[in-house]
Amino acid sequence: MEKIFENNQKWVAEKLAQDSEYFVKLAQGQQPRYLFIGCADSRVPAGEITGTGPGELFVHRNIANMVVHTDMNMLSVLQYAVEVLKVKDIIVCGHYGCGGVAAAASNKQFGLIDNWLRNIKDVIRLHEDEILSVSDEDARLRRLVELNVIEQVHNLSKTSIIQNAMLTDNPPKLHGLVYDIKEGLLRDLKVDINTFKRYEHIYNTILENTEN
Ligand code: ZN
Repeated sequence: MEKIFENNQKWVAEKLAQDSEYFVKLAQGQQPRYLFIGCADSRVPAGEITGTGPGELFVHRNIANMVVHTDMNMLSVLQYAVEVLKVKDIIVCGHYGCGGVAAAASNKQFGLIDNWLRNIKDVIRLHEDEILSVSDEDARLRRLVELNVIEQVHNLSKTSIIQNAMLTDNPPKLHGLVYDIKEGLLRDLKVDINTFKRYEHIYNTILENTEN
C-alpha cells in the first residue's frame, strides 16, 4: 500500500506544479460531458484511454459492462448522470479479451458470478445464428463482445430514465464502443438506436398523470 500513497503524493505535486489552483477548482463541482459504462477489467482505465481527466467522465464499471435493469447501482448512476449532471454522451464500452464474456460463452460454473453473466447468455440466445456462423473461436468471442455492447446500449434505451430523457430538448446520445487491449484503440460500433425502434411498442412506457 505504501506505493499507492507515494504515487498519490507525486501526482498531487505534479498537478500543483502545473496549476496551483487545480484541486481548489475541482472541489467546486463537476460537470462531466460523458457517462462511461465499462468493464471492471484493470486493463481498461476509462479516463486514460479516453484522454479525459478528473471532472470530465462520470464512470460506472462492472464485470462485462452490463446494463441490467434490476441493478440499482447502475440505475442510480444513470439517473444522476442524466437528470442532474445532464451528460451529453453515454458510452457503453466493451473490450476484446473480456473474461466475463468468455466465461458466459462457456458451459463451466464459476460461482456467484454465473448469475450476473447469465445476462450475456441472453445476448448469445438472441444472436445464436450469427455467433454460430463464425468458426474461429477468437473471432466468435470478439463478435460476442461487440454484440454484447450493442445489446447493452439497447438495454440503456429501454430504461425509463433514457425514455424520459429522449422527450427533453437535449437528450443524451448513446454510443457503443469496443476497446482493443492489444492495440490500445477504441472503435465506434456505430450503434444506431433507431435499429431498436421496431421494439418500441413493447418497451416504451409513458408517465401518466394520475392526479384527478
Ligand atoms: Zn471485461
